[in-house]
Amino acid sequence: MQTERRPESRFDFDLTTPEPIPEAAISRATELMRSGRLFRYREVGSGDVDDVGLLEREFALATGRRYAVAVNSCGAAMFLALRCAGVQPGDAVLANSFTLAPVPGAIHHAGGVPVLVETTESLTADLDDLREKAARSGARWLLLSHMRGHVSDLDAVRDVCGEAGVTLIEDCAHTLGAGWGGRPTGGFGQAGCFSLQTFKHVNSGEGGVVVTDDEALAARAILYSGSYMHYGQHQARPDERVFEELRATTPNYSMRMSAWAAAVARPQLELLPARIKAMNNLYRTLESLLLRIPQIRVPERATREEFVGSSIQFNIPGFSVAQMESFVNYCSGRGLHINWFGRPRMEGFTSRPDQWGFIDEPQELPRTAVILRTLCDLRLPPAMEERHCRVAADLIEAAIQSILSE
Ligand SMILES: *Cc1c(COP(=O)(O)O)cnc(C)c1O
Repeated sequence: MQTERRPESRFDFDLTTPEPIPEAAISRATELMRSGRLFRYREVGSGDVDDVGLLEREFALATGRRYAVAVNSCGAAMFLALRCAGVQPGDAVLANSFTLAPVPGAIHHAGGVPVLVETTESLTADLDDLREKAARSGARWLLLSHMRGHVSDLDAVRDVCGEAGVTLIEDCAHTLGAGWGGRPTGGFGQAGCFSLQTFKHVNSGEGGVVVTDDEALAARAILYSGSYMHYGQHQARPDERVFEELRATTPNYSMRMSAWAAAVARPQLELLPARIKAMNNLYRTLESLLLRIPQIRVPERATREEFVGSSIQFNIPGFSVAQMESFVNYCSGRGLHINWFGRPRMEGFTSRPDQWGFIDEPQELPRTAVILRTLCDLRLPPAMEERHCRVAADLIEAAIQSILSE
C-alpha cells in the first residue's frame, strides 16, 4: 500500500552555526585585551597566567602524550610534524585520499611528494593499497587523516607502518575527543595534529596543536614555531638540554598561537563531552533515518572506533553525476545545503585529489573516484535539533524520489 507522503517542509537551520564562546572564555579574552598581553611569551617576571602553556598541558593530558606544542593552525601543525619527523624536499609521503586540501598542502609545504592511498566504502584508508603503495614508493611517512571523524583501524595501520618502516603522523582535526579501542586519537602516531578552527570541536577561530612523546620532535617543533629563546616557558616540553643541541640549527618559522586564541579555546575543553554527546545523538538519529532510504549507503563504523559525529556522510551509489547535481540542487532549493565531493568544480571547503593540481605525480585512485562521485556531507552542529534531522531525511528522500520519477 502506498503511504501518503508528508507535505514537504523547508530546512530552516543553518548548518554552519557555531557554538557561542563560553562566558569564562570571553572574560579571560577581555582581560587579556585590557592588558594588551596577547603575545604568548612573557618577559621574565611579568608573572601573568600563560594561557598557551596551559592549553598545551591540557592537550598533552587529554591525548596521553608527554609533549604538546600550540601553533596557529592544524595545517601548520602537520607541516611542522612532517618537517620535524624528518621529511626533506623530494621525499615521498603517503596520505589517505579522502581528506581536506590542507593535508596534501602540508606535505607540499614540507617539500614532500604526496602518494595518495585509496579509500574504503567506510571512508577510511584502504590498508591493502597502503601496504602496496608504501612498498612501491619507498615512502617513509604516512600522514593519516581521520577525515570527517572517520578513524581507520589504528591497530592495523600501525602494523602496516611497522612492517614497512613508515612513520605515522595523525591528522586529528576532526577527532578531538575521539579514540580507537580506548585510546585517544593523536596517541597512535609519532605525532598527532589538532585544529581549533571554527568548524572543529573547539573553536578559537584559528589554531593548531602538535602532540608527541618524541623529545627531539617536540623541541624542534617549538623552535620552528618561533619560540626565540623563550622555549623555557612552554609547559609541556622536553628538558632544556634537548633545546641546547637544536636551537642554533633550527630556523624560526613564526607559527605561534596567540594568548588570545588559547584563552578562547581553554574553557571549551570542559564543554567538549556535552558537545560530543549532542553531536553523536544527532548522528545516530540522522543515520537511522537515512538507512531507511534504500538508495542511500551510510559508511559503516568499526566497533573499536569511538567517533565524534560532528558531521555525517552518505553515498547514493546508483546515481549518475547528473542525478547527483539535481539531487543537491533540489535540497539546496529547500534550504538544505549539502557538500558534495563529486562536484565537477571545487566549491566551499570541498575538493578531491584530481582537483589538487599542485601534485605533479600521477595518482592511481580509481576506487576513491567512484566513492567521492556520489559522496555527500552534512555538518551536525550541537545546536541542531532532532526535528531538523527528520526534516533533512524527509527532504533527502523526497529529492531521491523526485529524481527517480523523472
Ligand atoms: C580543518 C581540517 C584541517 C586543517 O585545519 P586548519 O586548522 O584549518 O589548518 C586538516 N585536516 C582536516 C581533516 C580538517 O578537517
